[in-house]
Amino acid sequence: MNPAGPVARQIGWKRCAPAEGSDPDPLLEQECSPAPGLIRRYENRALVLATRRCFVHCAFCTRLPFVRDQGGSELSVNVEAALGYIRGHEEIREVLVSGGDPLTLGDAALDDLLDALHSIPHVRLLRLATRAPMARPDRITDALCAMLRSHGPLTVAVHFNHPDELTPDAREALARLADAGLVLINQTVLLGGVNDDPEVLARLCWQLAEARVRPYSLLQCDRVAGTEGFWVGLERALDIAARLEADLPGPAVPAFVVDLPGWEGKARLGAHDPPRRVEGGFMITGRSGREILYPDP
Ligand SMILES: *Cc1c(COP(=O)(O)O)cnc(C)c1O
Repeated sequence: MNPAGPVARQIGWKRCAPAEGSDPDPLLEQECSPAPGLIRRYENRALVLATRRCFVHCAFCTRLPFVRDQGGSELSVNVEAALGYIRGHEEIREVLVSGGDPLTLGDAALDDLLDALHSIPHVRLLRLATRAPMARPDRITDALCAMLRSHGPLTVAVHFNHPDELTPDAREALARLADAGLVLINQTVLLGGVNDDPEVLARLCWQLAEARVRPYSLLQCDRVAGTEGFWVGLERALDIAARLEADLPGPAVPAFVVDLPGWEGKARLGAHDPPRRVEGGFMITGRSGREILYPDP
């Protein structure tokens, strides 16, 4: 164990040199961007990259090349094209606001963006993805909570990977969001050497549930070049997911999710029916019904 602990370790860790033949964009996000600042991999939902700034530069980040530190709290991505695309596609019913971390924007800029999205009649749901409650709990002010609430129904998707990240300040920030009536869900990335332990994850899920955050998903780390040091084999990952399912109250069990390329989307894998093993990986059924080779060396 790194003496600095699992939290410092996942934040401070550098990427490794990518293995030969490894993929910089396994989800095909580049191909799935019909407008600048927009990623669309589902018929009824789209993701807006609201800013390139982020509070934390996670070593396992899927979009690390996109993330930049720029001064100022204004929109650092021109979202007009993305908004125009969403306006022109009535089948898009949920918009995810991500980045970067959208809470690096100031309240006024974020309010304007949510307002623009909220005023599109076919957009029924908004989802904001942020690590602020962990990384900058003081960003979760009462004014921010009231502003977010005014754009409801709005789900805040937070990202905690280890119970050590649930500091007293983080818990207070989550309580402010929950008290404002926002729906809170958590996404955890399964990280080798950090949280690949059912006892650690069960503690995290239990504590999230107590903080009124629904553990939504346990994500297999995307197979992005340079993140190999964090990868957990799929068989072990499924064992961990099965343990969580056996031990936790139902509402505190996260879905175990493997993200597939492009429109194949995220596959929720049942802990008890592992996909078919083949040379070099597993065959996982995507949304199209096709079997996709998921690399698992
Ligand atoms: C993960 C993801 C979503 C949301 O998927 P859910 O299963 O609804 O959580 C939407 N758009 C993109 C581009 C995604 O990567």
